[in-house]
Amino acid sequence: TEKLLEVSGLRVTFKTHGGEVNAVRDVNFTLNKGETLAIVGESGCGKSVTARSIMRLIPEHIGKIAGGSIHFKGQDLAKLPEKQMRELRGKEISMIFQDAMTSLNPTITIGEQIVEGIIRHQKVTRSEARRQAIEILTLVGIATPESRLKQYLHQFSGGMRQRIMIAIALVCKPSILIADEPTTALDVTIQAQIIELFKSIQKKTGVSIIIITHDLGVVAKIADRVNVMYAGKVVESGPVRDIFYNPQHPYTKGLLASMPRLDADRSIPLSPIPGTPPDLFSPPIGCAFAARCDYALEVCRNYQPAETHVHSKHAVSCWLQDPRAKKLLASMQPPT
Ligand code: SF4
Ligand code: MG
Repeated sequence: TEKLLEVSGLRVTFKTHGGEVNAVRDVNFTLNKGETLAIVGESGCGKSVTARSIMRLIPEHIGKIAGGSIHFKGQDLAKLPEKQMRELRGKEISMIFQDAMTSLNPTITIGEQIVEGIIRHQKVTRSEARRQAIEILTLVGIATPESRLKQYLHQFSGGMRQRIMIAIALVCKPSILIADEPTTALDVTIQAQIIELFKSIQKKTGVSIIIITHDLGVVAKIADRVNVMYAGKVVESGPVRDIFYNPQHPYTKGLLASMPRLDADRSIPLSPIPGTPPDLFSPPIGCAFAARCDYALEVCRNYQPAETHVHSKHAVSCWLQDPRAKKLLASMQPPT
C-alpha cells in the first residue's frame, strides 16, 4: 500500500464570541492509494472540519489550523501558500460538499457549467473541454450525455444531480476525492446507486476516497477503513471488519447499537446513545466520552486515554484497553 495523505497532530480552532472552540483536537490518520476511508461520528464531532482542513477551506474569519501537518506528495498542505493550494484544489484533491446542489447555477446549462470549469482548470480549447465533459458524464453513468449537456438543473432528478456533482469533482482527475455526506439527502434506492457509482469510479480511476458520514450503513457498503470521531478526536480506527465485528470503544459500540437493522423487529426502538457531546470551549480533561459512557471510571474523568493498538491496523483510545490502567488502578497515581 502506498501512502497518499498523512495527517498528523491536526488541530483546528474556531473563533467565537464565547472564545476559542477546539473543533479538531490532535487528529492522526493516513489515506492509502486507491482505498476508501470513512470518517464517522455525530454532527459536530469534527469530521467535516477535518475534511475542510485538508482542502484548506476554513475561512480565516471563522477559524484556523492551529497545529499539526497534512502531508501530501511531499508538501505540507497545512503550511502551503494559498496560491499553491488553489492550484491543487480540484486538480489533486477534490471535494463534494454537503450542500453541493447550491453550487450549481440553475440559469445556465449543465454543459456550460462543466465546460467552463474544465477550461478554467486546464486551459484547453472549448471543443476539448466538451469532449472531456461528455467523457466524465459517461463515467458517472449519465446516458446520452450530449443531449444532457444542453439541459438545466431543474431537468435532473436528485440522484442525477448528485452524479453531476461527482462528475464536476472528478473532471480534473484528482488523486483524492472527499465526499461529505454524499448520500444523506437521497432516498434509499438512489443512495445505493450512488455508493455503487463511487465504487465503480474507484475501480476505473484508482482515486482514493474519503467519505464523511454519520450513516454506518453507508460505511459498511463502501469503506475499507474507518475513523470514528468523537468530540474532535479519532477515538477508534481500523479496517471496516474490525470496526463492525470487533469494536473496542464504547462510543463505537453505541453507534453500532443505534444502527437500524434490516432484519430487526421495527417495534423495538433503536438505542441511540443517551446524552450529548461535551462543550468544546473547554474540553474535558479526561476522556471526552466519560459523561455518556457506561464504563467510565474515575481515571477516565481525570486523564486522557492513550491510543492503544488492538493489532497493527486497529487502534482505540479508551482506558478499558490501555495497558497502563491496571497499574494505575493499583496505585491511583497519575499515569507516566
Ligand atoms: Fe468510557 Fe473510560 Fe473508555 Fe472513555 S476511557 S470510553 S469513559 S471507558
Ligand atoms: Mg458535517
